[in-house]
Amino acid sequence: KITVVGSLSMDLVVSASKRPLAGETVIGTNLSLFPGGKGANQAVAAARLGADVTMVGCVGDDAYGEMIVANLASQQVDTSLVKRFTNQTSGTAHITVAEGDNSIIVIKGANDCVSASLIEEARATIAASDIVLTQYEIPLPMIAYLADVCESEGTPLLVNPAPAATVAPETLAKFSYLTPNESEAALIFGQQSRADSFGAFPGELLITLGADGVCFKETTVPAFKVAVTDTTGAGDTFNGAFAVGLAEGQSLAEAVRFGNAAAALSVQKLGAQSGMPTRAAVEELLAK
Ligand code: ADP
Repeated sequence: KITVVGSLSMDLVVSASKRPLAGETVIGTNLSLFPGGKGANQAVAAARLGADVTMVGCVGDDAYGEMIVANLASQQVDTSLVKRFTNQTSGTAHITVAEGDNSIIVIKGANDCVSASLIEEARATIAASDIVLTQYEIPLPMIAYLADVCESEGTPLLVNPAPAATVAPETLAKFSYLTPNESEAALIFGQQSRADSFGAFPGELLITLGADGVCFKETTVPAFKVAVTDTTGAGDTFNGAFAVGLAEGQSLAEAVRFGNAAAALSVQKLGAQSGMPTRAAVEELLAK
């Protein structure tokens, strides 16, 4: 059983041939809505691989909130601990695709409402989980609070420190697993060598290296070689799948390979959640 404490959002993607200048209006070509948020994405990645997943987080009292919850439910994620806040909008990302580039404005909205009382409400679920998974798209003080709850309930905590931020050393020391990508690792551990970074973190540090795979301790587990279509959601897929491997009692190396396989399948498809593989597809790649 996996509990994800994290963000939920709706990504609103507009495409236009030209980006508007200040004060200008342009007619775009298309609007697409994609449920996202690192928390929800990682919950979906894990659920699609067959895990029993509970999402803990907040949405607003708006149509996006309804769509976000319905989407999770359709992926068999338990949404009983997703709170709907009145007087708040759901988290949204406003993405303009024009002239071959993205410009993005993120509104955190209800994701900032994740509170100690919500985490307390989830305590029994956390205690009954094999692992808890979180990211940095909820208020950072709540990461520290969650780390204390996980520690006192004896549940391992997997932290994907994205978007990059630093937390107090005593909080970092309570994380069981930490999965930064290279730029997040550089921010968290400063300009230390990789070896020094491993020395500075008492739990299991796994640095994801994109097409180069994942390095931990003295080992690098290579990525699967695939033709890339869209790397959006690679990290989310890796984290969701890695959590599934750990929850099932796989060794660290096995769980990393399982995560790499799922992430490699995801980069072959467009979109974050839409590219996340099924269990059967991951097993097939692992057997090759
Ligand atoms: P993020 O998306 O968070 O920046 P990475 O780029 O490190 O994270 O990717 C996360 C994981 O996704 C990698 O460790 C790897 O397993 C997988 N991955 C990413 N890019 C590729 C790729 N081009 N080919 C195969 N696997 C990839």
